[in-house]
Amino acid sequence: VDTSYKRIGEVDDKVKAFLTLDEERARTLAKQLDEVDASAKDVLFGMPIGIKDNIVTKDLRTTCSSKMLENFNPIYDATVMNKLRAAEAITIGKINMDEFAMGSSNENSAFQTTANPWNTDYVPGGSSGGSAAAVAAGEVPFSLGSDTGGSIRQPAAYCGVVGLKPTYGRVSRYGLVAFASSLDQIGPITRSVEDNAYLFEAIAGHCPSDSTSAQLPVPPYHESLTGDIKGLRIAVPSEYLGEGVDPDVRQSILDALAVLEKEGAVWEEVSLPHSKYALAAYYVIASSEASANLARFDGVRYGYRAEGAKDLLDLYKKTRSEGFGDEVKRRIMLGTFALSSGYYDAYYKKAQQVRTLIKKDFDEVFASYDVVIGPTTPTPAFRIGDQLNDPMTMYANDILTIPVNLSGVPALSVPCGFKDGLPLGLQIIGKHFDEATIYRVADVYE
Ligand code: GLN
Repeated sequence: VDTSYKRIGEVDDKVKAFLTLDEERARTLAKQLDEVDASAKDVLFGMPIGIKDNIVTKDLRTTCSSKMLENFNPIYDATVMNKLRAAEAITIGKINMDEFAMGSSNENSAFQTTANPWNTDYVPGGSSGGSAAAVAAGEVPFSLGSDTGGSIRQPAAYCGVVGLKPTYGRVSRYGLVAFASSLDQIGPITRSVEDNAYLFEAIAGHCPSDSTSAQLPVPPYHESLTGDIKGLRIAVPSEYLGEGVDPDVRQSILDALAVLEKEGAVWEEVSLPHSKYALAAYYVIASSEASANLARFDGVRYGYRAEGAKDLLDLYKKTRSEGFGDEVKRRIMLGTFALSSGYYDAYYKKAQQVRTLIKKDFDEVFASYDVVIGPTTPTPAFRIGDQLNDPMTMYANDILTIPVNLSGVPALSVPCGFKDGLPLGLQIIGKHFDEATIYRVADVYE
């Protein structure tokens, strides 16, 4: 805990990962744990962890990087926070993100833009950019992010750390501020695959407060790091190495495949033919769900309330106009439109049908292969400001991560080299609830 705060003091004015520190409480807890015999304890015992600011923490400001929740102090802890407490991990503070997790660069935060620790002129990715940057900068060894459409894996790739998007239903969403409920998952970000497996073990599992959480036991994921991938069957989608993918990124994936092949795995090219529709389907589905979920921020029940409203309707209008940033407004408008009567069938329903086809693509590939491998992102990180006024280019950052969310399968990003001093990520996608195989492969590669 000392090391963590010391490092934050040294670098966070440049990295700008943390929004709120919880130093007094963290130090008190650390002192208490100092008195305990740690030898028989969980591996997370006394370990500092940073939490993305859309995971609610009791009596600790939870802003979603939005003016709307700038002074919001939750009255309860998310299930993952209770689980971390049970493992005796220590929360260091709350971490910057794109407002309500909408974005791919952290530039949509209402408060600050986190920088990529490898080169502070570049973005750390998003929306969990702060969580990835904090780990990459050595401020904390562990952090939690959330991934609705790439938001753990893309920043993990840009910052050179390990990030897992678990199977939908594997980690409780209770206490995760909802963006797109059918896609959102909380997941671990760490420096090594082994750390990742331990943190994942601590936060996974059934939760009665989340009706979509799966009633399956949590295996000891760290035991799957056996080093043995002999005979493992890897599928490499041609769509993941084709047009739009930087040639150096493509080469880094081919190099990684050569390493895995040497260890006894076999790989073949396959096709995920519907993945080209994933981005379009995602932005209809995610925006639709967001428009419904964000209706709760009305100036009455939570957070920000505009002053000087004439009546109730005016209060809603003023509060939402002043409280939300541009990207959030764009999503709410897109989603409201897609769900409106007369357009619902053409947009929302159609997008759900496309989603089913994308899932079927994965089901077919997984009938003959153990994992799917490709790049996490088509390029390394971009410069701060470069894509700010270009939402379509910004959305394309997640072209390789979004099919995974639409299918519900798990995927991990592990560092696989550099281009121009900026890290690249290898994406390993697994079958539903088979994170163990992903970890086994990632560990052999790492
Ligand atoms: N770039 C995606 C979006 O803006 C990432 C969302 C996420 O995973 N939270 O919707």
